[in-house]
Amino acid sequence: MLYRRRTLDLPRGELKTPVLFPVRNLGKRSSDNTPAYAGTIPEFSAAMVNARSIRNRDPMWQRLTNGVSLREEMDVPEDTIVFADSGGFDFTSEEVDTTPAKTLNTQRQLEADIYGTVDIPLSRENRDAENERRVNRSAQYALKASDQHDGDGFLIASVHGYDPETVRNNIQYLERHGDFDGYALGSMVSIRTDYKKVTKLIISARKSTDKHLHVYGLGGLVYQPLLLYMGVDSFDSSAFIRSAGNRNYLIPGFGGEELRNIESLDHLPCPCPICGKRSLNEIREDRTALTQHNLWALSTELRRFRYVAESGRDIEEYLDLRFQGNGVTQRAYETAKQQVRRLT
Ligand SMILES: [Zn+2]
Repeated sequence: MLYRRRTLDLPRGELKTPVLFPVRNLGKRSSDNTPAYAGTIPEFSAAMVNARSIRNRDPMWQRLTNGVSLREEMDVPEDTIVFADSGGFDFTSEEVDTTPAKTLNTQRQLEADIYGTVDIPLSRENRDAENERRVNRSAQYALKASDQHDGDGFLIASVHGYDPETVRNNIQYLERHGDFDGYALGSMVSIRTDYKKVTKLIISARKSTDKHLHVYGLGGLVYQPLLLYMGVDSFDSSAFIRSAGNRNYLIPGFGGEELRNIESLDHLPCPCPICGKRSLNEIREDRTALTQHNLWALSTELRRFRYVAESGRDIEEYLDLRFQGNGVTQRAYETAKQQVRRLT
């Protein structure tokens, strides 16, 4: 069994893993922003922010460099744990507009607990040679960050790979030449529907290191139990925001349901503090409520898995049931199960 529980000792305090970092879209249009959740969902005392977009947002960056703390700007408690992803690559410009040193400075200024190193995601459309160049450049950026890191925050090297071997070689190379507190596997979002490939890459990363393993961008409802099962320690998600934007209601144990497909119910099938007393129509008309419910849905999925593990029940039996309703995700889980069983 690869599922594991750890405690990270971070500058702002301890963080129990596995954990989800809900994405906080600071620096983007306010309609995309994350509604307040700190203090409302106990296990979500953490957030993922994008260092680059915060630095590039001028009025906010001026406040942050003139005495306002990031937590004040986010309106969350000062002990909120922050993972600052570098966000060094902008897909529209195709150029990296930061350096490892500049990114580290930003992450320090934000008083982040966890620093992700600068990276250049792979693309399905790229030639192999271009993706290989990107894998190597990301590794070099990570080593530069390791050289310049003073040890305050938790430094996580961003790792990419198009096959299990590249992922393994990359982690082993970084482990030999740098000093990292953990690794974060990227470039997963563009291949997210290729479950077989995604699970193979993740299991390869898990096998290559005992250190903290984060997976970027896959913390949605379906992937969450798979990531836990494969021993991933943390993940992040903006699925709850994007889904709400598409009027998609997340249902733990199932997936997303577009609210326009539901006509005649008085109440939705969720007793969370958002849905419990509101009618279907109230939630239909309130995007913030929908976003908050979607976060509760993610926490419910996480709590169920933990409950199954802690109560000594058979996790594979639970996941057999969890995934039986959908052929695609069932095959994904079966693939992961075969690989996990080969290891354990
Ligand atoms: Zn709800």
